[in-house]
Amino acid sequence: SKAKLFDEKTDTRTSFKDVAGLEGAKEEVEEIVDFLRNPDKYTSLGGKIPKGALLVGPPGTGKTLLAKAVAGEAKVPFFSLSGSDFVEMFVGVGASRVRDLFKQAKDKSPAIIFIDEIDAIGRARGKNNMTGSNDERENTLNQLLTEMDGFGTNTNVIVLAATNRADVLDKALMRAGRFDRQIYVDLPDIRERKEIFEVHLKPIKTAEALDLEFLAKQTPGFSGADIANVCNEAALIAARKEKKAVTKQDFLDAVDRIIGGLEKKNKIIT
Ligand code: ATP
Repeated sequence: SKAKLFDEKTDTRTSFKDVAGLEGAKEEVEEIVDFLRNPDKYTSLGGKIPKGALLVGPPGTGKTLLAKAVAGEAKVPFFSLSGSDFVEMFVGVGASRVRDLFKQAKDKSPAIIFIDEIDAIGRARGKNNMTGSNDERENTLNQLLTEMDGFGTNTNVIVLAATNRADVLDKALMRAGRFDRQIYVDLPDIRERKEIFEVHLKPIKTAEALDLEFLAKQTPGFSGADIANVCNEAALIAARKEKKAVTKQDFLDAVDRIIGGLEKKNKIIT
């Protein structure tokens, strides 16, 4: 029923400035930006440009954002799909979607392909397979491996994939020449949360100068997505009260609300 499984956008709007914190991860993907921009610099010395990297970390920590920023910084098209889109797909459809996606990216290269939730297609093969219902998932995974192996050294398409469960992935995905680099994207520490607040407060009309340090202290364990949520929620709370600007108290109320939501989510899991 999904008309379009992947989006291709020349996303020149997302840049590293939009990604707060994550210094280590940014440093690693900066190298990928340079591979895309100046491939000859590497290949002329006989080097092989990596085909893929795995972004590993908890939900909402900025993996998708970082992948978009790589495309934005390198000024190349961004093709994306999500592993979960493949879960209930008819036989043959998943594999042919993967084939199409790689063909389009190669036609527009240099390019980034981003596969979110790769664990949905990339779980170790041969497990959970008692019913045979995973055959299509396996076909999709095999097609993905085939496509990555089929890249010539001059293709200049780099595949970034995100997961929060690197441990369940089929080892074949991590073999040399596939996703042989892993980049960790962790939950933000207090200093990083402060930086993330700074980014997401930009569009918010605040009544007073907010103490970012204080907000960062109130939000241990929050992901970047949670913090973006707090800022938005604070604006909505203030607006509902007919306020002309958002106050510190609105932020505190928003934090409470998000904590409430997180607790509910955890209760469902356990
Ligand atoms: P998931 O695993 O759930 O797909 P993700 O790691 O891909 O999550 P994103 O989708 O990139 O997370 O993050 C969601 C939103 O949260 C981003 O669009 C952004 O608004 C905000 N966000 C997350 N991390 C950061 C960050 N480090 N700096 C700024 N904003 C962030």
